[in-house]
Amino acid sequence: MAYTNSKLVNHKHLSPNHSGTRNHVIDTITIHCVVGQCSAETLGNIFADANRQASSNYGVGYDGRIGLYVEEKNRSWCSSSSVNDNRAITIEVASDTYDPYRVNDKAYNALIKLVADICKRNGIKKLKWSTNKNERMNHLNGCNMTVHRDYANKSCPGDYLYGKMGDIASKVNKLLGTSTTTATTTPAKPTSTAFKPYLVRVTADALNIRKGAGTNYKVTGCITGGGVYTIVDEKKGTGSTKGWGKLKSGAGWIALDWVKKL
Ligand SMILES: [Zn+2]
Repeated sequence: MAYTNSKLVNHKHLSPNHSGTRNHVIDTITIHCVVGQCSAETLGNIFADANRQASSNYGVGYDGRIGLYVEEKNRSWCSSSSVNDNRAITIEVASDTYDPYRVNDKAYNALIKLVADICKRNGIKKLKWSTNKNERMNHLNGCNMTVHRDYANKSCPGDYLYGKMGDIASKVNKLLGTSTTTATTTPAKPTSTAFKPYLVRVTADALNIRKGAGTNYKVTGCITGGGVYTIVDEKKGTGSTKGWGKLKSGAGWIALDWVKKL
């Protein structure tokens, strides 16, 4: 697939800070926070300085205008990881200078349009986020979003954007014509008490679900909101509906609407 650049770009200021042609197809999106409510032009000026030794493919200014600094065909210097930056499109988004590094709505909405455009042109059919670092870094279960803090001792992309990654994926997937959930209708409530794995439907946001920590259940896939997900009981053969009402998550307990044997 030939590399192209987004037509949504308002300002082009190519940076000398890149490694030339990337060695991996584009299959990942890495969103960063600038730590500054700057414009696409200011970001371009920053990355134009060779002494900075830093760049990103795109930047989104506080006003939603988009800058191109490293063409998509080239590997930017953005995520403290050669492996990541060779396969990712990196995007810096103007943000507050203080925790949680909030991003304006204008910039946020422009970011979603930009990411959808990147996905479309590069054959990324569905954007998938995971709150599990291992899933992100190893691209497990279809996860194709990574964050700077995976590769360096940094808070980037800030807690604001980090907490929004599931929402970004959902909104981008809407534009791509795909859905982040695996079912749009409610299946009949199961009566089976038999063995695993089960499908469950969570009724509320269930961020940070993880295996272990005393739970019997392993969640596969990204849990970013109400929807249908697969969970697998790690105690094989001990299936029972007893205790199925709740699934332990990193943030506490979330309600399960129903459980269904696959
Ligand atoms: Zn970053």
